[in-house]
Amino acid sequence: MNRIRSYDREKAILYLVATPIGNLLDMTYRAVNILKEVDKIYAEDTRNSIVLLKHYEINTKLESYHEFNQEIKTDSIIEELKSGMKIAIISDAGLPVISDPGYRIAKEAIKNDIAVSTIPGASAGISALVSSGFSPSPYTFYGFLDSKESKRIEELNNLKYVDHTLIFYEAPHRIKNTLENMLNVLGNRNVCLARELTKTYEEYLRGTIQELLELDNLKGEMVLIVDGYKEEKIDINPFEKIDELISLGYKPNEAIKEVSKLINVNRKELYNDYVEYKNQR
Ligand code: SAM
Repeated sequence: MNRIRSYDREKAILYLVATPIGNLLDMTYRAVNILKEVDKIYAEDTRNSIVLLKHYEINTKLESYHEFNQEIKTDSIIEELKSGMKIAIISDAGLPVISDPGYRIAKEAIKNDIAVSTIPGASAGISALVSSGFSPSPYTFYGFLDSKESKRIEELNNLKYVDHTLIFYEAPHRIKNTLENMLNVLGNRNVCLARELTKTYEEYLRGTIQELLELDNLKGEMVLIVDGYKEEKIDINPFEKIDELISLGYKPNEAIKEVSKLINVNRKELYNDYVEYKNQR
């Protein structure tokens, strides 16, 4: 049992602070205050974060903590926290940890009995879900699919029968390819592409995957919300369908096999039922 209170003002704490996903004004008062108060801020890209910090007149010491140095930096940040420092992690946009650095340091801090606290705010996936018009619960937040196509197809195959809303992040140069992969694996689902959220050219494109693929120039930052798997309701009389296939030249066994796949029932059971049906006629 690990029970740590975030409100002990004397103790070290690691804050995971949300920053805007495009619109500089989407910064909470509390986030600004915390970033002013802490002993140090670690940012994914200090050049990006300087713009935000300047805007809010935050003069706290700033250092980098990104994908490529987090292995080395995590230990030194833990040492700083152990010495009693209060530290904030920010990423380029939205919540740290969510498809961004922060998970590793949060996990290590928890292991070391250091308080970890989220300062909530903007996050692209949840923001897109809210306005997508798709069922919000449950949902699966997937983040980025693999950049390698074969792996991406494998991932999509694993998601094929998930019957609730799926949230993906995608880069503009890969979106067409990903949509094609989705069309092949998931079928022509309803989707919502949320572009440039909170920015001047914010846009929601709602339609089918095929309709999205007809558009050129899908640019900017984007979240793709995909409708969950819906079981197709097949309204057929299986015996009549078997007869129909036989009349089209199928052998009886082949026809039964096809129809059993179509309505998702056991082939032997369907065979027995069909024989009984025929005997009654
Ligand atoms: N930590 C961020 C969050 O909480 O949403 C996500 C960071 S991830 C590296 C960046 C991806 O988030 C982008 O490639 C895009 O898919 C999505 N994203 C970020 N800002 C966005 C925006 N303004 N509009 C749409 N998608 C956005």
